[in-house]
Amino acid sequence: MSLAGKLAQERRARLAAERLLEMKQAELSAANRKLGLHAMALTKRIGETQAEVETVRGENEKVKSDLTVANAKIEVAERRLWHSIQTIQDGFAFFDEEGRLIGANAAYLSVFDGLEEVAPGVTYPRLLEILTTEGLVDIGSETASSWCDRLLKRWAVPHPQPEVIRLWNGHYIKLIDQRGHGGDVVSLALNITASVRHEAELTAARERAEAANRAKSAFLANMSHEIRTPMNGIVGMTELMSETPLDEEQRLYLNTIRNSGEALLVIINDVLDYSKIEADKLTLHPEQFDFERCILEVAMLLQPSVRDKGLTLLVDYDLFLPTLFVGDPGRVRQVLTNLVGNAVKFTSEGHVLIRVTGVPNPDTQSCDVHVAIEDTGIGIDEDKIGHIFGEFNQVEDERNRAFEGTGLGLAITKRLITLMGGSIWVESDPGQGSCFGFRVSLPTAEGPQPVPPDLDGRLRHVMIVEDLAANRAILSKQLGRLGSQVTVCASGREALAALDESVDLLLCDHDLPDMDGLELAVTLRDRGWGDLPLVVMSANPGVIHAHPARHLIEGVLQKPIPRAELYARLMALDRSQRPDTFSEDIPVNDRPNRAALDESPRKMRVLAAEDNRTNQLILRKMLKDLDIELRFASDGAEAVQVYREFQPDLIFMDISMPKMDGKQATSEIRRREIDTGRHVPIVALTAHAMAGDDQGILSAGLDHYLTKPLQKQKIHQIILTHRPEECSPAIAEDSQSE
Ligand code: ADP
Repeated sequence: MSLAGKLAQERRARLAAERLLEMKQAELSAANRKLGLHAMALTKRIGETQAEVETVRGENEKVKSDLTVANAKIEVAERRLWHSIQTIQDGFAFFDEEGRLIGANAAYLSVFDGLEEVAPGVTYPRLLEILTTEGLVDIGSETASSWCDRLLKRWAVPHPQPEVIRLWNGHYIKLIDQRGHGGDVVSLALNITASVRHEAELTAARERAEAANRAKSAFLANMSHEIRTPMNGIVGMTELMSETPLDEEQRLYLNTIRNSGEALLVIINDVLDYSKIEADKLTLHPEQFDFERCILEVAMLLQPSVRDKGLTLLVDYDLFLPTLFVGDPGRVRQVLTNLVGNAVKFTSEGHVLIRVTGVPNPDTQSCDVHVAIEDTGIGIDEDKIGHIFGEFNQVEDERNRAFEGTGLGLAITKRLITLMGGSIWVESDPGQGSCFGFRVSLPTAEGPQPVPPDLDGRLRHVMIVEDLAANRAILSKQLGRLGSQVTVCASGREALAALDESVDLLLCDHDLPDMDGLELAVTLRDRGWGDLPLVVMSANPGVIHAHPARHLIEGVLQKPIPRAELYARLMALDRSQRPDTFSEDIPVNDRPNRAALDESPRKMRVLAAEDNRTNQLILRKMLKDLDIELRFASDGAEAVQVYREFQPDLIFMDISMPKMDGKQATSEIRRREIDTGRHVPIVALTAHAMAGDDQGILSAGLDHYLTKPLQKQKIHQIILTHRPEECSPAIAEDSQSE
């Protein structure tokens, strides 16, 4: 190759090498640029990271210093808490979930003073063991093991009940333990020695005061009892003396003595009752009794004052409520007498209504009995109403200053009802009237309860003639519930105008404003309604029985009307029966006066068993006006003997008599009656006004009881009520309202 060729080749090679170098250089500078950029980014990141590290470091420093401060604070708080726990007088300890002691204050540990074992780590069961083995606790009559077991059981439950223990030094400690979520237990041991001692002192003081009060009450009870006996003599004798010839001045003096004596007796009886309750001598004596009869007896007892004041006393005993219950009849009667007596006392016109309803509870075989006593009297102001159940509290204002009383009646009543497990309340509208209500739960007795009659379509339409709206409402409710259509009229004239063929029975009040029941009967007969059965209702049936027009009526119902009497009367009624054909269901007392047809009706026979000569004299004198045959027996045995020979229609029976007392004699007579099938009413005569004293009088088979001093009016009332129809009237007609 030529030189030129070689040179050219060399140049080309050099040019190629230069181009390659240029390319490599370009690549290199590109790579270098990239590297530069990367390094820059890296430097930035490093810068940032460094800043972050700086911040975290700063924060760490802060946290560290905060932690130190917090730790210091915790230490202070812990120290303070512990210091506080140490300074409290009561024991404080905490245990872990295994029952190991974590810590306890000095008061807690002081009980175990000197026992090194008692330190953190010791278990609760071991502490109990130490308490007993070292004699640190007074376990009384319990054995150490049973004491420990009992306290361990208590400790094991999630929420242990506080427990009081007594230490060897006589200190009382109340243990209160609280279990936390994790199972830890905080234990408090409160020293309650001072309050236990104080309580014991208070209890002793209260017992002393109560004993003194009981002694006072017992003294009062004895004194009242002692005062009552001679007072009975005084009042009884004034009653007799008033029968002897006296001039006007003497009669005035005598009446004053009698009224004062009677007033004093009422007060004494209240004081006696109240002091008996206070002296804890009052207990209830439950027995089977007839609640409705109880109410009717109270109504009968109060009837004279009701009549004197021109009031009407009504009883609305729920038709479907049982009547036989188990309770203390004497006390129930006392409650009723107080409440109904007050209602009569504080009412000058209108009526007093005893309403009895109830909710039987078949599960417990008992009945919630509600009794409401409504009156239309003076009422009680709202600001006084809260006080009237307190002792010696009477509403004092010009409206009732005229009323006598001790202010104990309602206090006694409330206590009796509380004793029976019941409650009492009152609502009143001053000037309009009051309503006292009480509720008691009484077990129902097993005997046969009166069942409302099944009228079976008879008596579809009954007409009630009654001027008193409250009684109209009661009767129409009762008859309506038995399925009869009821028409009510307020007067005889209204009844005559409303009468039509659909009426099956006329139930008529005797004292209507325009005519009496018998006049209505005569008018009905004269107008051709002689066939329509007419039953007359009266609070004083004696007057009707003796009336010549008596045969025109179907019968008489004594107001307030006992349900059994109403049932019997309704069942006996049938349009086919006429007044002169009588069903045997009709009570003997209400049958027409067959005796009037006889030549000479016999006299009513009354036996009085009474050992005391003075009382015999009083009784004889009180009964001297009555046309009856009266025989006396001087003891219970003689009473039974005379009962057999004499066959009395009524017996008055003294309770405390020699040989055989009145209760025994009555039981004996009742036993004999099982053979004869005849029931003679027996009325107890007792010096004991209190039901607690006469416990068992009524359960011994006596029908009623009268308390001494005997009152002529009450004795006469009883005789009149029980006179059999076939006997001659016991009392002349004109003196019946005496
Ligand atoms: P007292 O022996 O005075 O009747 P109570 O304790 O029975 O004593 O009654 C207390 C007072 O409550 C009575 O004095 C009377 O003011 C008032 N009170 C009680 N019942 C009635 C009532 N039905 N109507 C009006 N006030 C009554």
